Amino acid sequence: MELLRPSSLEELDGGLLLHGGTEVVPLLREGLLETERLVDVRGVVPRGVDGAVIGAGTTLAELEVEPAIPDALREACRLAASPQLRSMGSLGGNLLQATRCWYWRLGYDCRLHGGDRCHARDGEHREHAIFANEFCASAHPSDVAAALVALGARVRTNQRELAVEELYRLPDEGNRSTTTLESGELLLEIELPPAGASVYLKAMDRKRWAFPQVGVAVARHEDGSPRIALAGVAPIPWRIEGVDDLDAATPLPRTEWKVPLARALVRRALAALA
Ligand SMILES: Cc1cc2nc3c(=O)[nH]c(=O)nc-3n(C[C@H](O)[C@H](O)[C@H](O)COP(=O)(O)OP(=O)(O)OC[C@H]3O[C@@H](n4cnc5c(N)ncnc54)[C@H](O)[C@@H]3O)c2cc1C
Ligand code: SF4
Repeated sequence: MELLRPSSLEELDGGLLLHGGTEVVPLLREGLLETERLVDVRGVVPRGVDGAVIGAGTTLAELEVEPAIPDALREACRLAASPQLRSMGSLGGNLLQATRCWYWRLGYDCRLHGGDRCHARDGEHREHAIFANEFCASAHPSDVAAALVALGARVRTNQRELAVEELYRLPDEGNRSTTTLESGELLLEIELPPAGASVYLKAMDRKRWAFPQVGVAVARHEDGSPRIALAGVAPIPWRIEGVDDLDAATPLPRTEWKVPLARALVRRALAALA
Protein backbone atom coordinates (compact mmCIF):
# COMPACT_ATOMS: atom_id res chain seq x y z
CA MET A 1 0.00 0.00 0.00
CA GLU A 2 1.34 3.48 -0.82
CA LEU A 3 0.90 6.46 1.50
CA LEU A 4 0.60 9.87 -0.18
CA ARG A 5 0.90 13.23 1.57
CA PRO A 6 -0.35 15.88 -0.87
CA SER A 7 0.50 19.50 -0.10
CA SER A 8 -2.08 21.02 -2.48
CA LEU A 9 -5.63 20.16 -3.54
CA GLU A 10 -4.45 19.82 -7.16
CA GLU A 11 -2.34 16.80 -6.18
CA LEU A 12 -5.40 14.83 -5.01
CA ASP A 13 -6.07 11.90 -7.32
CA GLY A 14 -8.21 9.18 -5.76
CA GLY A 15 -7.35 6.87 -2.88
CA LEU A 16 -8.68 6.46 0.64
CA LEU A 17 -8.56 9.70 2.60
CA LEU A 18 -7.12 9.70 6.08
CA HIS A 19 -6.84 12.50 8.63
CA GLY A 20 -6.29 11.48 12.27
CA GLY A 21 -6.77 7.83 11.29
CA THR A 22 -8.68 6.92 14.47
CA GLU A 23 -11.41 5.40 12.30
CA VAL A 24 -9.58 4.51 9.09
CA VAL A 25 -6.68 2.60 10.67
CA PRO A 26 -8.83 0.14 12.71
CA LEU A 27 -11.12 -0.42 9.71
CA LEU A 28 -8.13 -1.17 7.46
CA ARG A 29 -6.70 -3.50 10.08
CA GLU A 30 -10.00 -5.37 10.31
CA GLY A 31 -10.32 -5.63 6.55
CA LEU A 32 -13.50 -3.53 6.45
CA LEU A 33 -11.70 -0.98 4.27
CA GLU A 34 -9.27 -1.87 1.53
CA THR A 35 -7.06 0.35 -0.57
CA GLU A 36 -3.81 0.41 -2.48
CA ARG A 37 -3.47 4.16 -1.91
CA LEU A 38 -3.86 5.93 1.41
CA VAL A 39 -3.97 9.72 1.20
CA ASP A 40 -3.03 11.67 4.33
CA VAL A 41 -4.95 14.93 3.88
CA ARG A 42 -3.52 16.82 6.86
CA GLY A 43 -1.44 19.02 4.54
CA VAL A 44 -4.44 20.28 2.57
CA VAL A 45 -7.36 20.46 5.02
CA PRO A 46 -7.54 23.73 7.01
CA ARG A 47 -7.16 23.50 10.77
CA GLY A 48 -8.25 26.01 13.42
CA VAL A 49 -11.11 28.43 14.09
CA ASP A 50 -11.37 31.76 12.30
CA GLY A 51 -14.51 33.62 13.37
CA ALA A 52 -17.47 31.51 12.28
CA VAL A 53 -15.35 29.23 10.08
CA ILE A 54 -13.83 26.01 11.43
CA GLY A 55 -11.24 24.03 9.49
CA ALA A 56 -12.34 20.43 8.98
CA GLY A 57 -8.88 19.40 10.20
CA THR A 58 -9.41 20.95 13.64
CA THR A 59 -9.28 18.26 16.30
CA LEU A 60 -12.11 17.63 18.74
CA ALA A 61 -9.64 18.37 21.57
CA GLU A 62 -9.03 21.84 20.12
CA LEU A 63 -12.76 22.47 19.77
CA GLU A 64 -13.73 21.35 23.26
CA VAL A 65 -11.70 24.24 24.74
CA GLU A 66 -12.53 26.81 22.06
CA PRO A 67 -14.52 29.67 23.64
CA ALA A 68 -15.54 31.16 20.28
CA ILE A 69 -17.78 28.28 19.19
CA PRO A 70 -21.37 27.63 20.32
CA ASP A 71 -21.88 25.69 23.55
CA ALA A 72 -23.62 22.76 21.82
CA LEU A 73 -20.65 22.10 19.55
CA ARG A 74 -18.07 22.49 22.30
CA GLU A 75 -20.00 20.15 24.57
CA ALA A 76 -20.56 17.56 21.81
CA CYS A 77 -16.79 17.50 21.24
CA ARG A 78 -16.01 17.33 24.95
CA LEU A 79 -18.34 14.37 25.47
CA ALA A 80 -17.11 12.40 22.44
CA ALA A 81 -14.69 9.48 22.65
CA SER A 82 -11.59 9.61 24.93
CA PRO A 83 -8.99 12.38 25.38
CA GLN A 84 -6.49 10.45 23.22
CA LEU A 85 -9.01 10.01 20.39
CA ARG A 86 -10.11 13.63 20.60
CA SER A 87 -6.55 14.85 20.25
CA MET A 88 -6.09 12.83 17.02
CA GLY A 89 -9.65 12.85 15.65
CA SER A 90 -10.61 15.66 13.29
CA LEU A 91 -13.94 17.37 12.84
CA GLY A 92 -14.17 16.16 9.21
CA GLY A 93 -13.33 12.58 10.17
CA ASN A 94 -15.90 12.66 12.94
CA LEU A 95 -18.66 13.71 10.54
CA LEU A 96 -17.76 10.84 8.20
CA GLN A 97 -17.20 8.08 10.72
CA ALA A 98 -18.80 4.73 9.90
CA THR A 99 -21.61 3.10 11.83
CA ARG A 100 -20.91 1.34 15.12
CA CYS A 101 -23.48 -1.37 14.33
CA TRP A 102 -21.82 -4.53 15.66
CA TYR A 103 -22.95 -6.64 12.70
CA TRP A 104 -21.39 -4.16 10.29
CA ARG A 105 -18.19 -3.97 12.35
CA LEU A 106 -17.97 -7.79 12.42
CA GLY A 107 -18.19 -7.85 8.63
CA TYR A 108 -21.62 -9.50 8.34
CA ASP A 109 -22.93 -9.34 4.80
CA CYS A 110 -25.70 -6.95 5.83
CA ARG A 111 -27.49 -4.33 3.74
CA LEU A 112 -24.99 -1.60 4.55
CA HIS A 113 -22.26 -3.93 3.29
CA GLY A 114 -24.29 -4.54 0.11
CA GLY A 115 -26.10 -7.69 1.28
CA ASP A 116 -29.85 -8.29 1.35
CA ARG A 117 -30.55 -8.55 5.07
CA CYS A 118 -30.43 -6.32 8.15
CA HIS A 119 -29.11 -8.66 10.83
CA ALA A 120 -29.81 -6.13 13.58
CA ARG A 121 -33.54 -6.01 12.82
CA ASP A 122 -33.78 -9.78 13.24
CA GLY A 123 -31.06 -10.07 15.86
CA GLU A 124 -29.62 -7.92 18.63
CA HIS A 125 -30.59 -4.28 18.25
CA ARG A 126 -30.70 -2.75 21.72
CA GLU A 127 -28.43 0.17 20.67
CA HIS A 128 -30.08 0.75 17.30
CA ALA A 129 -32.32 3.28 15.57
CA ILE A 130 -35.82 4.32 16.55
CA PHE A 131 -36.47 6.31 13.36
CA ALA A 132 -36.00 5.39 9.67
CA ASN A 133 -34.88 1.88 10.63
CA GLU A 134 -36.72 -0.10 7.96
CA PHE A 135 -33.82 -0.72 5.56
CA CYS A 136 -30.91 -0.33 7.96
CA ALA A 137 -31.42 0.12 11.70
CA SER A 138 -28.00 1.60 12.49
CA ALA A 139 -27.83 4.58 14.83
CA HIS A 140 -25.69 7.53 13.77
CA PRO A 141 -22.80 7.75 16.24
CA SER A 142 -21.63 11.35 15.82
CA ASP A 143 -22.39 13.77 18.65
CA VAL A 144 -20.73 16.50 16.64
CA ALA A 145 -22.91 16.01 13.55
CA ALA A 146 -26.08 16.39 15.62
CA ALA A 147 -24.74 19.62 17.14
CA LEU A 148 -23.80 21.04 13.71
CA VAL A 149 -27.18 20.11 12.24
CA ALA A 150 -29.00 21.84 15.11
CA LEU A 151 -26.79 24.87 14.64
CA GLY A 152 -27.64 24.97 10.92
CA ALA A 153 -23.94 24.75 9.94
CA ARG A 154 -22.76 24.55 6.35
CA VAL A 155 -19.81 22.68 4.94
CA ARG A 156 -17.44 23.67 2.13
CA THR A 157 -15.82 20.83 0.22
CA ASN A 158 -13.36 20.87 -2.67
CA GLN A 159 -16.42 20.54 -4.95
CA ARG A 160 -19.39 22.42 -3.45
CA GLU A 161 -21.00 24.07 -0.45
CA LEU A 162 -23.94 22.49 1.34
CA ALA A 163 -25.74 22.30 4.67
CA VAL A 164 -24.17 19.74 7.04
CA GLU A 165 -27.62 18.12 7.11
CA GLU A 166 -27.32 17.50 3.35
CA LEU A 167 -24.11 15.53 3.86
CA TYR A 168 -26.30 12.65 5.00
CA ARG A 169 -28.85 10.42 3.29
CA LEU A 170 -30.76 7.32 4.29
CA PRO A 171 -29.37 4.19 2.64
CA ASP A 172 -31.61 2.28 0.27
CA GLU A 173 -31.55 -0.62 -2.19
CA GLY A 174 -29.96 1.46 -4.94
CA ASN A 175 -27.37 3.27 -2.81
CA ARG A 176 -26.07 1.88 0.47
CA SER A 177 -24.18 4.99 1.49
CA THR A 178 -25.28 7.15 4.43
CA THR A 179 -23.52 10.21 3.00
CA THR A 180 -23.89 12.23 -0.18
CA LEU A 181 -20.13 12.64 -0.64
CA GLU A 182 -18.70 11.91 -4.08
CA SER A 183 -15.52 9.90 -4.36
CA GLY A 184 -12.53 12.19 -3.86
CA GLU A 185 -14.68 14.87 -2.25
CA LEU A 186 -12.87 16.48 0.64
CA LEU A 187 -14.42 18.38 3.56
CA LEU A 188 -12.51 21.63 3.97
CA GLU A 189 -14.40 24.00 6.25
CA ILE A 190 -17.53 24.24 8.37
CA GLU A 191 -19.29 27.57 8.62
CA LEU A 192 -21.56 28.41 11.54
CA PRO A 193 -24.45 30.83 11.05
CA PRO A 194 -25.21 33.30 13.84
CA ALA A 195 -27.07 31.45 16.60
CA GLY A 196 -28.21 32.23 20.10
CA ALA A 197 -27.91 29.88 23.03
CA SER A 198 -27.39 26.19 22.34
CA VAL A 199 -27.06 23.02 24.34
CA TYR A 200 -25.99 19.39 23.85
CA LEU A 201 -27.11 16.62 26.19
CA LYS A 202 -25.96 13.04 25.88
CA ALA A 203 -27.00 9.75 27.47
CA MET A 204 -24.25 7.11 27.62
CA ASP A 205 -23.97 3.64 29.12
CA ARG A 206 -21.16 4.96 31.31
CA LYS A 207 -20.23 8.45 32.40
CA ARG A 208 -17.43 9.10 29.86
CA TRP A 209 -15.87 7.73 26.69
CA ALA A 210 -18.95 6.17 25.15
CA PHE A 211 -20.99 6.71 22.01
CA PRO A 212 -24.37 8.40 22.38
CA GLN A 213 -27.26 6.14 23.28
CA VAL A 214 -29.19 9.30 22.54
CA GLY A 215 -27.69 12.74 21.99
CA VAL A 216 -29.83 15.87 21.81
CA ALA A 217 -28.64 19.18 20.38
CA VAL A 218 -30.85 22.24 20.53
CA ALA A 219 -29.92 25.67 19.18
CA ARG A 220 -31.92 28.87 19.23
CA HIS A 221 -31.90 30.65 15.90
CA GLU A 222 -32.26 34.29 14.96
CA ASP A 223 -36.05 34.11 14.68
CA GLY A 224 -36.15 32.73 18.25
CA SER A 225 -37.17 29.21 17.25
CA PRO A 226 -35.24 26.23 18.63
CA ARG A 227 -33.81 23.73 16.16
CA ILE A 228 -33.41 20.18 17.42
CA ALA A 229 -31.19 17.38 16.10
CA LEU A 230 -30.59 13.95 17.62
CA ALA A 231 -27.68 11.50 17.56
CA GLY A 232 -28.05 7.76 18.09
CA VAL A 233 -31.67 7.49 16.93
CA ALA A 234 -31.53 7.01 13.14
CA PRO A 235 -28.96 5.95 10.52
CA ILE A 236 -28.18 9.65 10.05
CA PRO A 237 -28.42 12.73 12.33
CA TRP A 238 -32.14 13.20 12.90
CA ARG A 239 -34.13 16.44 12.99
CA ILE A 240 -37.33 16.78 14.97
CA GLU A 241 -39.49 19.85 15.43
CA GLY A 242 -40.44 19.17 19.04
CA VAL A 243 -40.89 16.53 21.70
CA ASP A 244 -44.21 15.38 20.19
CA ASP A 245 -42.39 14.13 17.09
CA LEU A 246 -41.02 11.31 19.24
CA ASP A 247 -44.53 9.83 19.22
CA ALA A 248 -43.79 8.86 15.61
CA ALA A 249 -40.75 6.75 16.55
CA THR A 250 -40.77 3.14 15.28
CA PRO A 251 -38.40 1.39 17.70
CA LEU A 252 -37.51 -2.26 17.31
CA PRO A 253 -38.60 -4.38 20.30
CA ARG A 254 -35.39 -4.04 22.33
CA THR A 255 -34.78 -0.40 21.43
CA GLU A 256 -38.03 0.95 22.86
CA TRP A 257 -36.18 2.31 25.89
CA LYS A 258 -34.62 5.01 23.72
CA VAL A 259 -37.95 6.75 23.13
CA PRO A 260 -38.64 7.91 26.71
CA LEU A 261 -34.93 8.65 27.08
CA ALA A 262 -34.99 10.90 24.01
CA ARG A 263 -38.20 12.54 25.22
CA ALA A 264 -36.65 13.35 28.60
CA LEU A 265 -33.47 14.73 27.04
CA VAL A 266 -35.34 16.90 24.55
CA ARG A 267 -37.53 18.33 27.33
CA ARG A 268 -34.47 18.96 29.48
CA ALA A 269 -32.55 20.61 26.63
CA LEU A 270 -35.48 22.87 25.74
CA ALA A 271 -35.87 23.82 29.41
CA ALA A 272 -32.15 24.58 29.67
CA LEU A 273 -32.41 26.86 26.66
CA ALA A 274 -35.48 28.61 27.99
C1 LIG B 1 -13.39 4.04 20.68
C2 LIG B 1 -14.01 5.22 19.98
C3 LIG B 1 -14.98 5.97 20.63
C4 LIG B 1 -15.55 7.07 20.00
N1 LIG B 1 -16.56 7.76 20.63
C5 LIG B 1 -17.19 8.77 19.95
C6 LIG B 1 -18.27 9.46 20.55
O1 LIG B 1 -18.66 9.19 21.68
N2 LIG B 1 -18.88 10.44 19.84
C7 LIG B 1 -18.46 10.78 18.57
O2 LIG B 1 -19.04 11.70 17.97
N3 LIG B 1 -17.44 10.15 17.99
C8 LIG B 1 -16.79 9.15 18.64
N4 LIG B 1 -15.75 8.49 18.04
C9 LIG B 1 -15.38 8.85 16.70
C10 LIG B 1 -14.16 9.74 16.65
O3 LIG B 1 -14.51 11.03 17.07
C11 LIG B 1 -13.71 9.73 15.21
O4 LIG B 1 -13.07 8.46 15.02
C12 LIG B 1 -12.74 10.80 14.84
O5 LIG B 1 -13.25 12.09 15.03
C13 LIG B 1 -12.42 10.64 13.35
O6 LIG B 1 -11.48 11.62 12.98
P1 LIG B 1 -10.14 11.19 12.23
O7 LIG B 1 -9.49 12.45 11.80
O8 LIG B 1 -9.34 10.24 13.05
O9 LIG B 1 -10.78 10.42 10.98
P2 LIG B 1 -10.11 9.35 10.03
O10 LIG B 1 -10.07 8.03 10.70
O11 LIG B 1 -8.85 9.86 9.46
O12 LIG B 1 -11.24 9.35 8.90
C14 LIG B 1 -12.57 8.96 9.17
C15 LIG B 1 -13.38 8.99 7.88
O13 LIG B 1 -13.48 10.29 7.38
C16 LIG B 1 -12.86 10.43 6.11
N5 LIG B 1 -12.20 11.73 6.14
C17 LIG B 1 -11.38 12.22 7.12
N6 LIG B 1 -11.15 13.52 6.90
C18 LIG B 1 -11.82 13.86 5.77
C19 LIG B 1 -11.99 15.07 5.04
N7 LIG B 1 -11.43 16.22 5.42
N8 LIG B 1 -12.79 15.06 3.93
C20 LIG B 1 -13.38 13.91 3.51
N9 LIG B 1 -13.24 12.73 4.16
C21 LIG B 1 -12.49 12.72 5.30
C22 LIG B 1 -11.95 9.23 5.97
O14 LIG B 1 -11.76 8.84 4.62
C23 LIG B 1 -12.75 8.19 6.75
O15 LIG B 1 -13.80 7.67 5.94
C24 LIG B 1 -15.13 7.42 18.67
C25 LIG B 1 -14.12 6.67 18.04
C26 LIG B 1 -13.58 5.58 18.65
C27 LIG B 1 -12.52 4.79 17.93
S1 SF4 C 1 -28.42 -1.99 11.13
FE1 SF4 C 1 -27.52 -1.46 9.14
S2 SF4 C 1 -25.35 -1.79 9.50
FE2 SF4 C 1 -26.43 -2.95 11.08
S3 SF4 C 1 -26.85 -5.00 10.30
FE3 SF4 C 1 -28.60 -3.76 9.76
S4 SF4 C 1 -28.11 -3.06 7.66
FE4 SF4 C 1 -26.18 -3.69 8.61
